[in-house]
Amino acid sequence: MTYDLLVIGAGPGGYVCAIRAAQLGMKVAVVEKRETLGGTCLNIGCIPSKALLHASEAFEEAGHGLAALGVVVGRPKLDLAAMMKHKDDTVAANVAGVAYLFKKNKIDWLKGEARLAAPGQVAVKGADGAETIYEAGAIVVATGAEVAPLPGVEIDEQIVVSSTGALSLAKPPKKLVVVGAGVIGLELGSAWRRLGAEVAVVEFLDRILPGMDGEVAKQARRLLEKQGFAFHLGCKVTGVEKAASGAKATIEPVSGGAPQRLDADVVLVAIGRRPYTQGLGLEAQGAAMERGRIVVDARFATNVAGLYAIGDVIRGPMLAHKAEDEGVALAEILAGQAGHVNYDVIPSVVYASPEIASVGKSEEELKAAGVAYAVGKFSFSANGRARATRRVDGFVKVLADASTDRVLGVHIVGFGAGEMIHEAAVLMEFGGASEDLARTCHAHPTLSEAVKEAALAVEKRALHV
Ligand SMILES: Cc1cc2nc3c(=O)[nH]c(=O)nc-3n(C[C@H](O)[C@H](O)[C@H](O)COP(=O)(O)OP(=O)(O)OC[C@H]3O[C@@H](n4cnc5c(N)ncnc54)[C@H](O)[C@@H]3O)c2cc1C
Repeated sequence: MTYDLLVIGAGPGGYVCAIRAAQLGMKVAVVEKRETLGGTCLNIGCIPSKALLHASEAFEEAGHGLAALGVVVGRPKLDLAAMMKHKDDTVAANVAGVAYLFKKNKIDWLKGEARLAAPGQVAVKGADGAETIYEAGAIVVATGAEVAPLPGVEIDEQIVVSSTGALSLAKPPKKLVVVGAGVIGLELGSAWRRLGAEVAVVEFLDRILPGMDGEVAKQARRLLEKQGFAFHLGCKVTGVEKAASGAKATIEPVSGGAPQRLDADVVLVAIGRRPYTQGLGLEAQGAAMERGRIVVDARFATNVAGLYAIGDVIRGPMLAHKAEDEGVALAEILAGQAGHVNYDVIPSVVYASPEIASVGKSEEELKAAGVAYAVGKFSFSANGRARATRRVDGFVKVLADASTDRVLGVHIVGFGAGEMIHEAAVLMEFGGASEDLARTCHAHPTLSEAVKEAALAVEKRALHV
């Protein structure tokens, strides 16, 4: 069988690329070895984690937040099986949705494991072990990423778990040790803390959320500590020993010093993810790689003719929406259009409570680049809607070019930050200035008014402080 486009991997990068290519008239197939479509994101990533985060947040709110609003519900009882069913049902509905979209767009799902057989050819090994060769004008590698291992620590997905195991624990651990203070560790740590776990986070660096704006990360740390998180920053885990029940993690200060042991029922290894290209045969094709990632040019082409790559296997942030946008851009490029991804405006969200969202540059990045900038900040504690809903933690920070006023970065810690960040993203796509944001009428009373006030604060004319 010959296709115009054959995509390997049905994650957000691959399946979106396939849909867009089909919309543009191409004959498309996607190879996926998992039982269901949707990749990491829909099966074991974004979607199940957000289902669990939402449910655990509702549990905590019922226990602690509602009484202050005059809603007395008594002590909430956890039905973890029902919560997991909500998560599993959410995943099932989403992956079925992708299967429906494949049918609607006449995309063939080739079930099995793909290998690059020759230029323009992909071998797909089905469940029976037999290989079938398919030909395609363009082949896209969208095989995603896998959990980065912690040397010397074996993941059994029961006591020492990756994010996948942490999404399906049989009961809330009494003590959870999270290795890594990045997004995944803090999100899953938050979910289990709300369900009763004592959470200790061990991080090699002396800060949490590496890469995010420093002031935002500091505020996030304060808020998480208030919720009960214990952070061991500047520490490394040197070993995890399984005990009769649970485990003991040995940690040591990076700068040297006495080791310390942390008891845990469950240890979550969340030190990052690494590109997954195993068994593809990239080396045999002569594809250039750099630190495990497939090297591509601005049009997502590798150095092998007809071979492209998108998503977590290439450079850039490992985010579902970045993979999706690359999928759309590549399909359009292959159709002769001007597909493009603006890497300066890719929002990122940490779904802790409150949420942490950012788009564009951090203060540290602007300083390092020698860009003169002005800062406007506004706290949710001065926002009427935030007070009415008792969601006063956090702030909005707008960073604008000191001479042109063009917005270069926006950072929000606060309830609903992951939704609010998009008005900043749209503004930045249009090259907007803080004055544009400040002069845009915002409905009252909304949390988004804090974004407008932060923009006003760039020129020191916020109204409500
Ligand atoms: C716990 C967790 C939470 C996350 N939360 C978020 C979030 O909230 N927001 C966000 O933006 N990102 C989140 N991410 C990251 C996000 O899931 C990834 O960035 C995204 O899935 C990358 O998409 P992709 O298409 O590149 O690859 P993937 O989604 O990883 O899909 C790759 C697919 O390729 C298949 N495959 C691999 N090799 C082969 C082969 N040889 N043959 C056939 N099939 C193959 C795999 O089975 C897989 O289904 C999260 C990740 C995790 C683990």
